[in-house]
Amino acid sequence: MGKLLTFIELKEGRASGASLEALKGGQELAKSLNHTIHAVVFGSDEAPTELTGLALDEVLTVSDPQLSIYTSEHFVAAMAAVLAAESPDLLIAGHTYQARDWLPRLATRMARPLVSDCVGFQTDAGVVWMRPLFQGKIIAQVQTTPGLVIVSFQAGAFRSDELVSGAPSVRSLEVELAGALQRVQPGESRQASKGSVDLSRAERIVAVGRGIGSEENLALVRALANALDAELGSSRPVVDFGWLPHAYQVGSSGQTVSPKLYLALGISGAIQHQVGMKGAGCIVAINKDPHAPIFEIADYGIVGDLLEILPHLTKGLNERAQT
Ligand code: FAD
Repeated sequence: MGKLLTFIELKEGRASGASLEALKGGQELAKSLNHTIHAVVFGSDEAPTELTGLALDEVLTVSDPQLSIYTSEHFVAAMAAVLAAESPDLLIAGHTYQARDWLPRLATRMARPLVSDCVGFQTDAGVVWMRPLFQGKIIAQVQTTPGLVIVSFQAGAFRSDELVSGAPSVRSLEVELAGALQRVQPGESRQASKGSVDLSRAERIVAVGRGIGSEENLALVRALANALDAELGSSRPVVDFGWLPHAYQVGSSGQTVSPKLYLALGISGAIQHQVGMKGAGCIVAINKDPHAPIFEIADYGIVGDLLEILPHLTKGLNERAQT
């Protein structure tokens, strides 16, 4: 029986959303390959509460205090030691900013392949990893040589609310970091930009595109977002026009989101937008063009003029909330 290890990134002691999504991918993969599934956290001697009710064989904790703050050098050294001790066949992680930094170094250290930013896999004849190329225009199918494979999953590729429940055991693991290089000195962590928003954890997003027509009309979108208790998001032109800050942009050069509900208002559904939101649980699109590509991935579509529809929708939601 093979062994699958998932790295869980911690944010203030909690398992990150991207890691939990990757863990769901890991659960599906482990089931399909008949592997055992283990999770590992760094910098804590306790399993984060998000993991304690999940169907995992084991949660490993590596509590060395040098791992409580991220540095690629310590993470690579620690994971190399974990891999040597545990000998998994697969190491899985979310494709986060940290993962982009340290997984290539780890793969180089281990002289093993890294298949990054995957959106799925097939297991019919060995594992084939699905990985978008050219802004999602092509899905490459990647096969690797036998031995350890390191894989990162794109945010939104799997749904963390579909994780299978269970009761894993917890085991602490000691690693030796004394000899690890220490050329990187972490500074204070800070938000990327003032007023930036983290849409990756939002449950509902109301996203607006060029079809809204003008900055003044954004008031209609904000009112709908309020009525739905949703976060605001946007396509790139809305940001390029300066109507909303870049932090709101969803897509290949913005944020990747996987809310339960995503409203795409006046958004055509260009591939660069789709790659950031296609993992949403339910997509509702409003567009006056019945042939807009967004309708190909929408669960519900309304063909019509936003400026007419939005006030009715908001009014209806507000009235319903009062009853
Ligand atoms: P449009 O494509 O212009 O679509 C507007 C839509 O609104 C149309 O479908 C129209 O029918 C509809 N509409 C117009 N008026 C109304 C109305 N009154 N009522 C209802 N519907 C109406 N885009 C992103 O979104 N995110 C990214 O991260 C991103 N990164 C990119 C990176 C690169 C390298 C490149 C080249 C492009 C990127 N883009 C990105 C841009 C992307 O290619 C599209 O141009 C963009 O997504 C289009 O935005 P849109 O749908 O708002 O506008």
